[in-house]
Parts: sequence; C-alpha cells; structure tokens
Amino acid sequence: MGTTPFHDLGIRPVTGWLEKFWAHAQKSDGCWNWTGRKRRMNTVTPDVYGQVEVPVYSSRGPAWRVERIHRLAWELANGQRVPNGGWVLHSCDNSNCVRPEHLRIGTPQDNSADRQARGRWKTGNHKGHPPTYWKVTPDQVRDIRAAYQGFRKGTPMRLLSEQYGISEAAIYDIIKRKTWRHVA
Ligand SMILES: [Zn+2]
Repeated sequence: MGTTPFHDLGIRPVTGWLEKFWAHAQKSDGCWNWTGRKRRMNTVTPDVYGQVEVPVYSSRGPAWRVERIHRLAWELANGQRVPNGGWVLHSCDNSNCVRPEHLRIGTPQDNSADRQARGRWKTGNHKGHPPTYWKVTPDQVRDIRAAYQGFRKGTPMRLLSEQYGISEAAIYDIIKRKTWRHVA
C-alpha cells in the first residue's frame, strides 16, 4: 500500500504500522481472526472488540485515534473512509474477523436484522429487541460516561453509538449531561 490511500484515509504514515496491523490477522481460507488487543466496551454486554490506535494528524500535530479493527480493515481495503452513518457489517457473523471480503457497509437496521435473523440477539433482558430500539438504562448511562472517560485519545462517540444502538447525538447528550442529569 502506497502513500495515496493513507492520505485519503487521513492516516499519518508510520513505518511498520500497517504491517503490524495485518500481522494481527490470522489469515485463512475462511475468516481472518484478529489476534491483537481486544477491549470490552461496557459492562452491560459481554462483547469484546478488537481495537487499534490509528496514526492521524490533528490541529496540534501527530495524534492517534481509536478505531475498531473491522472498520479499519474495510477502510484500508477500499481506500476510503466509512461513509457517514454507515456501519461495517460482517457477512460471516464473526465480529472478530477482519477479512475485507467478509465486510460490507450497512445500516444499524441491517445489523439488527442480521442479528435477529441469526438468533444472536440474546443479551440479558433485551431479548428480542434489536439495539435500534434500545432505551438506555441508568446503568448504561454510567457505562457510556465511563467508557468516554476511559479513552485516552480520539472521539468514541461513533463507537458508543454503534455499541448502544442510539444516535451519536444521543450519546453526546448523555456524556455532556444534557440528558440523564440525575444519574451520578
Ligand atoms: Zn469472516
């Protein structure tokens, strides 16, 4: 990969960074499973997600943004950022997979439809309700705020939005305490 795709993706060229990323993908004839760092996004759902820090530029100079591995894999393979509001979905239903052929752009609605169709949506008392319709609970509000505090760099609004199935604006309001102000 040359410098042009990096530039289009807003990625700051760092020697060896790309090679290191793909070295964490266990390539096979099927899924390419991620063997690198994973992180649990909250204490409500058990899902863990592979995350990487991507070298970028900021107004204050070199910086890093936290990105989920499958989004980054899609962007690297397609030479463009994920379209606004788009989700990168797994056609293989393996959230740990970074094989570009298994990744496609969809919507949160597609995602919940997929999950429901595959019977994967079994978490706690949210049984049967796709994340799109989640109304967050006070515990989730605390988790969202804690997750936001926990990030060293970058903005996790989109990640939280994906995780909780509510809009980024709703996440922002929770973090800024415009909503759920009564939750400590
Ligand atoms: Zn796969």
